[in-house]
Amino acid sequence: MENVPMKRYTSMRVGGPARYLLYPVDEADLRNILGYLIHKNIPYRFLGNGTNVIVNDKGLDEALIRITRMKRKGYKKTKDGAIADVSGGISLKQFIRDNARRGLSGLENLYWIPGTVGGALKMNAGSFGASVSDPLLTMRVLNAHGHIVTMTRRDAPFGYRTSPIKASECVMNARFNLKSRDKNEIAKDMAHVYSERKKRHPMEFPSAGSVFKGVKGEAAWKFIEKAGLKGLKIGGAGVSEKHANFIVNLGSATANDVRALIDTIKRGVFEKTGVSLEEEVELWGFNG
Ligand SMILES: Cc1cc2nc3c(=O)[nH]c(=O)nc-3n(C[C@H](O)[C@H](O)[C@H](O)COP(=O)(O)OP(=O)(O)OC[C@H]3O[C@@H](n4cnc5c(N)ncnc54)[C@H](O)[C@@H]3O)c2cc1C
Repeated sequence: MENVPMKRYTSMRVGGPARYLLYPVDEADLRNILGYLIHKNIPYRFLGNGTNVIVNDKGLDEALIRITRMKRKGYKKTKDGAIADVSGGISLKQFIRDNARRGLSGLENLYWIPGTVGGALKMNAGSFGASVSDPLLTMRVLNAHGHIVTMTRRDAPFGYRTSPIKASECVMNARFNLKSRDKNEIAKDMAHVYSERKKRHPMEFPSAGSVFKGVKGEAAWKFIEKAGLKGLKIGGAGVSEKHANFIVNLGSATANDVRALIDTIKRGVFEKTGVSLEEEVELWGFNG
């Protein structure tokens, strides 16, 4: 597809057209696509569910590649559970539900994070004290040379919202070590996580989740509240009244509104508290 409006493919619902949006059907197809793009000097990125990115209003002179139609998945029994092998393009939420149906535990604290498994690993997404990399065994990663490399957690260190995955690389599959657990207990934990998220997060508005990273173990919303910025609006974007680390699209936000709000928050927090906030969301196609 050409000139695809990114507001349709990102959870913030802002952003201009991307030059191409491509859906490889399998690994060979993806390799061909990469070869072509590199040969033609066309920059590219991988897009999951677009729940952690904000795309500029002018759009992107780039190709975006989504592997969401490559849905390989399997489970291999172990002594105390199973090893799940899942495609990077699959929805994390769906994967956690599938595990729960099989009585397999390991990722329930991440339930309802709206991204793909690949996007979650790139961001090392986490919630309620757990990270997606915790039960990870290995990842198969396609690099910019078209080679598949297998990374273990030992040679691929993850940190707080950081991973060893480069922007030019694609997580094709990941293997997780899951443990057997009572299905009712798993379901209870997932229901708890969901209800807590619903209580705390402004799920009723489009957003990209938490905008800023925590600072030395302190949640970013505390600094934003301290700076008196909760509820601040610029154009159609606002600092959520429910959770100050969420910027929400109140209906007509542009990427420029969101960016202006991000800059205003950073400035305001620094002036009031001396703390420099760092974005957790990725800003695509903005200058500076
Ligand atoms: C309502 C809401 C709640 C959220 N709550 C949380 C939360 O509790 N914790 C948390 O950590 N995050 C949270 N997020 C942010 C977001 O959901 C996560 O960061 C998620 O893991 C991003 O996945 P994605 O597929 O949407 O990635 P995208 O937003 O599409 O991309 C994010 C990054 O991953 C890269 N990427 C995507 N797919 C691949 C792939 N297959 N291989 C390599 N790189 C890839 C992209 O190039 C980009 O760099 C929330 C977002 C929303 C909207």
